[in-house]
Amino acid sequence: MSGAKAAAAPMKVAQVLKPGGDFQMVDREIPKPRMGQVRIQVEACGICHSDVLTKEGQWPGIEYPRVPGHEVAGVIDETGEGVSGWKQGQRVGVGWDGGRDNTCPSCRRGDFRNCRNLKIPGISYDGGYAQYMLAPVEALVPIPEGLSAAEAAPLLCAGITTFNALRHSGASPGDLVAVQGVGGLGHLGIQFANKFGYHVAAVGRGPGNAALAKKLGASVYIDSKAAKGAEALQKLGGAQVILATAPSSQAMSELFDGLGPNGKLIVVGVAFDPLTIAPVQLVTGSRSIQGWAAGTAADSEDTLRFAEQTGVRAMIETYPLERAAEGYARMLSGNAQFRVVLTM
Ligand SMILES: [Zn+2]
Ligand SMILES: [Zn+2]
Repeated sequence: MSGAKAAAAPMKVAQVLKPGGDFQMVDREIPKPRMGQVRIQVEACGICHSDVLTKEGQWPGIEYPRVPGHEVAGVIDETGEGVSGWKQGQRVGVGWDGGRDNTCPSCRRGDFRNCRNLKIPGISYDGGYAQYMLAPVEALVPIPEGLSAAEAAPLLCAGITTFNALRHSGASPGDLVAVQGVGGLGHLGIQFANKFGYHVAAVGRGPGNAALAKKLGASVYIDSKAAKGAEALQKLGGAQVILATAPSSQAMSELFDGLGPNGKLIVVGVAFDPLTIAPVQLVTGSRSIQGWAAGTAADSEDTLRFAEQTGVRAMIETYPLERAAEGYARMLSGNAQFRVVLTM
């Protein structure tokens, strides 16, 4: 264990003092890992749109000041009591799934992803906008050698969300799979869908992302401003799955009729207004809608290994930790190509 010397020194964190407050760079004491925890020396942390929940206080029960960040990649710096199977110096990440209670009805059935008391780094406890953070062992994800920290970080939320949703979608190789949105989630969804062997149609607004979508692995690009996306998908035979990544309920609703028989709209883009899909649209062709939230640490491990093997990478813009506020603003602007990652 590294120990007392490191623990006495301060570390830099970017914290939010209150809901809606600005980011503050402050020095804090480096925390000691408690029972069942490790301390991670953070090397990179993705800035995810869900960090808005912490910044603006949109999640119930957040205690402030709070350090956001749930796309964390680094190295185990110290292990707490009772930790086995994880070593100092080991490269690890922590994603959205930052711990569970092991006792709720979902956990008792092994459905850890839907733990009723799911802990989320940066929301339930301080996250990765920091030089060091603590994490419970059940949240840890080993990082394969072939991925740098900055490459691994965004795969721990945006990556796993699209990877896991697609691999559980029921689509088989060769099936038409549409990815709605060519952004932070969508650009990863297109790559995974391509590597899974699907016939990939990317659906974006305007012609701007056509070349990029093809480069990422889409065989078809549908500009939903120029053509009716649903009709375009029907011309291709109807989609088995539409992975809806851009948080626009209207765009998702308009695309629904692009599904073929038994097709499924899988929603991962978080919007707050209702979808407008009539029961008759569901009944016709026995089509369905499903939401999907990230996955467990083991799912993240699969995501990282798959990405390492197949070359799937997030497109990133990096900012040093000291410029967290600027990086966050860049993420919010929607102009980032595509994930913003803080480096320490
Ligand atoms: Zn996220
Ligand atoms: Zn639980």
